Amino acid sequence: MKIGVLGGGQLARMLSLAGTPLGVDFVFLCQAHDACAATVGEHLHARFDDKAALEQLATQVDLLTYEFESVPAESVEYLGSRLPVYPPPGALATARDRWHEKTLFNELGIKTADFINLNSFEDLQQAVPRIGLPAIIKTRTEGYDGKGQRLIRDESELAAAWEAMLDVPAIIEAFVPFAREVSIIAARSVSGELAFYPLTENEHRDGILRKSTALANDPMQGLAESYARRLLEHLDYVGVLAIEFFQVGDELLVNEMAPRVHNSGHWTIEGAETSQFENHIRAILDWPLGSTALRGHAVMLNLIGDLPDSKKILAQPHAHLHLYGKDERPGRKVGHITICAENEAEVNACIEAIGPV
Ligand code: AMP
Repeated sequence: MKIGVLGGGQLARMLSLAGTPLGVDFVFLCQAHDACAATVGEHLHARFDDKAALEQLATQVDLLTYEFESVPAESVEYLGSRLPVYPPPGALATARDRWHEKTLFNELGIKTADFINLNSFEDLQQAVPRIGLPAIIKTRTEGYDGKGQRLIRDESELAAAWEAMLDVPAIIEAFVPFAREVSIIAARSVSGELAFYPLTENEHRDGILRKSTALANDPMQGLAESYARRLLEHLDYVGVLAIEFFQVGDELLVNEMAPRVHNSGHWTIEGAETSQFENHIRAILDWPLGSTALRGHAVMLNLIGDLPDSKKILAQPHAHLHLYGKDERPGRKVGHITICAENEAEVNACIEAIGPV
């Protein structure tokens, strides 16, 4: 069995690390010379719109998946006409456009912050009195890790904010004074089997995820699962889906979904019975899904920009180090650490011993 992956970054690498023991081989289509998945599979070095490379990939693999959303729709369409592509291209198209995804959430009765579509500066001027300030402008497509976003605090900032968005289609959305940010990782197989991981609490700095904590028996678990089930079934979804929420009081507002394995689910490698990566592979191959149960307490710390002192981390009995084989660069995700122990005190002691990362 051979799976093709569009993308060759750390998510692709961890998919291969989970799938290889199950006897699955991987081919990654990625234009980067230094694709970090290249060491754990075959690297097809080409752009996503390279017709000959797409053709070669289609003949080489049994089915296809992807590790990020910004794949040209025509490439996915072409591959979809040749072999099974999971998650389904329709879900990908919805998730890559903030306006489409938020509109779908509301149609399915899933709450979001108020938002309005913007095509021009005039649209922005008319939207502000309806949405109120502070508010956030976000590009409809291509935004991630806080990129393509501007916070507007008062009306004097409107013109500069719109200019910074480079006149591309965008949305404006109400600023949410959330109590915390949580996400759920869910999976659905080809034959419709469902699985949900315990909710994860996420802490961001400068728009980038820094810390995820797996939550046992969280009171919001049921609501998050019901929203995830609605989306998975509506989209006839296959694979792992991540949904990010803002919690306000006892409400969950969806921020966005990612039709793929997700950074807030990296703790599942050691912290759950079956990792998100293995369950994604099981789901798209229509194999039985594995248990999502927590193994003790788990926290994930992202390594951003700088490589850590590996020996110091490995000296900690509950720490698991994952380096992605990337060079250091400001703001770049170069690895993560999962701390997994029987109780919270042990996890916290380990985080303290590791120190700031
Ligand atoms: P995003 O790219 O939409 O995932 O946003 C990145 C981060 O910016 C989120 O994880 C939040 O911490 C923050 N953020 C995004 N949208 C809002 C909002 N409407 N209100 C408050 N904070 C937000």
